[in-house]
Amino acid sequence: MARIERLVILGGGTAGWMTAAALSKTLGRTVAIDLLESDVIGTVGVGEATIPTIHWFNELIGLDEADFVRATKASFKLGIEFVDWARPGHRYFHPFGRYGVDLGRVPFHQCWLKGARDGAAAPLSAYSLAAELAAANRFSKPSNDPGSILSTLGYAYHFDASLYATHLRGLAEASGVVRHEGKLESVERDPATGFVTALTTDRGERLEGDLFVDCSGFRAVLIGDELGAPFEDWSHWLPCDRAVAVPCARVAETTPYTRSTLRPAGWQWRIPLQHRTGNGYVYSSSFVSDDEAAATLLANLDGEALAEPRQLRFKAGFRREAWVKNVVAIGLSSGFLEPLESTSIHLIQSGIAKLIALFPTRDCDPALARQFNDLFGRDMDGIRDFLILHYHATQGHTAPLWEHTRNMVLPDSLIEKEAQYRRSGRLMLATDDLFREASWLAVLNGQGIVATDHSPIADTLDGPSNRRQLDQLAAIIARAAPTLPKHDDAIAALIGSAAPRGMATALA
Ligand SMILES: Cc1cc2nc3c(=O)[nH]c(=O)nc-3n(C[C@H](O)[C@H](O)[C@H](O)COP(=O)(O)OP(=O)(O)OC[C@H]3O[C@@H](n4cnc5c(N)ncnc54)[C@H](O)[C@@H]3O)c2cc1C
Repeated sequence: MARIERLVILGGGTAGWMTAAALSKTLGRTVAIDLLESDVIGTVGVGEATIPTIHWFNELIGLDEADFVRATKASFKLGIEFVDWARPGHRYFHPFGRYGVDLGRVPFHQCWLKGARDGAAAPLSAYSLAAELAAANRFSKPSNDPGSILSTLGYAYHFDASLYATHLRGLAEASGVVRHEGKLESVERDPATGFVTALTTDRGERLEGDLFVDCSGFRAVLIGDELGAPFEDWSHWLPCDRAVAVPCARVAETTPYTRSTLRPAGWQWRIPLQHRTGNGYVYSSSFVSDDEAAATLLANLDGEALAEPRQLRFKAGFRREAWVKNVVAIGLSSGFLEPLESTSIHLIQSGIAKLIALFPTRDCDPALARQFNDLFGRDMDGIRDFLILHYHATQGHTAPLWEHTRNMVLPDSLIEKEAQYRRSGRLMLATDDLFREASWLAVLNGQGIVATDHSPIADTLDGPSNRRQLDQLAAIIARAAPTLPKHDDAIAALIGSAAPRGMATALA
């Protein structure tokens, strides 16, 4: 079967350059890769918090961690702190990594549920080293030694989105990707197959290809406008449709976590970087005006705003057919779930991984597209349910958005998961769900959903032994946390400087 010889990527945001870096690394010089982007159109310019799957991507493209953290002014991320979500005045932490350690065949969370029901367990976060480190502004990388409590850690990064795209561009161009500047003006299609054959720019350049990756962001120029793949709208479940974002000066130590604070018409993010702090208010335009949202954001910054607030518009949902004929959509062109759990960059790399695994020949066998779309749909459905859980399980907020989300009709899949947990303490997950037991437990428990039973398997441990083991685990974590480095020192040690830039001022 004829091989793909020319591949064209439309778009040079995070999705475009991640795709270019990964495909050029994987395909070497066997496929010529062109990337078209427009400086006039620009990129979405946000997307600075990640989840631990980013390590897979960084390894794939051979990214050196110290170079990457230095170049993108990154900080480490141990999880997300949710402020005021369960109810006003409440905080909880969704940590990366694992809670405790499984005891024999009994999953840790069942030991904890049994202990909690016996009145013998500490709060859940006492069994997460990541949560304890975050609370103390400390950081350590995980250990590979399964006997060490450090093996329970997981981590990701916060980084500057534009510096990240620039860094990836450098890597991709060094691997032979050719960048073309200009706006797409017309698309040529094969009249017989409907396949896209070439893109022409406003500068008169013509880019021919056998396979096209649409990374054109919310515009979805190829997959939407040209090929008409329908958009499945989920805004009835995830009603936030706008954001206003602004960077501010950093004023203290860099925290190793993202903070999400509930606001009357949505929520506010705080993402600490070495040189600044990223902030944004994600809101529903049905419940607050743009001006009021910007004013709320500006009134809730830790330091001086470093730019004018920037407004963004979006809609929750996706295209179940993200691969049509010889066009594969990756990034915002394929869909968007709001950034509450920082999943979009993961979805980009997951799209790239699927494309590599299913890399077609020139005929683009429709069975490959079906498989890609099926897997992508399952990713999106699972993440959607996890996000809706945050919106639905809140108490004590009287603002109309929160009344609405508390009372909305949930997807059946989420109703079933929540009911099963309440009834039996079981977490019913599919093997390919992105968010695993620790994440569901963190958010269910954090947002006040109580399990009324535990698995009978946990009864193989008698109450006193269970209590002893829980106490030991909490004690090990409590002893270990204060011995580990401060987060800023961990960054400085990695990038080889005394402290991240700005530290001297920050601590003065
Ligand atoms: C408010 C908000 C917060 C977010 N926070 C996070 C987060 O914390 N973590 C996370 O993982 N994700 C987050 N995301 C998502 C993340 O920003 C995106 O997934 C990521 O930036 C990828 O965007 P993209 O490359 O698909 O699109 P864009 O950045 O929009 O890039 C599109 C590219 O296509 C080009 N283009 C478009 N049309 C044309 C044309 N006609 N001709 C030529 N070029 C064209 C543009 O020039 C640009 O280069 C957030 C998104 C939003 C809206």
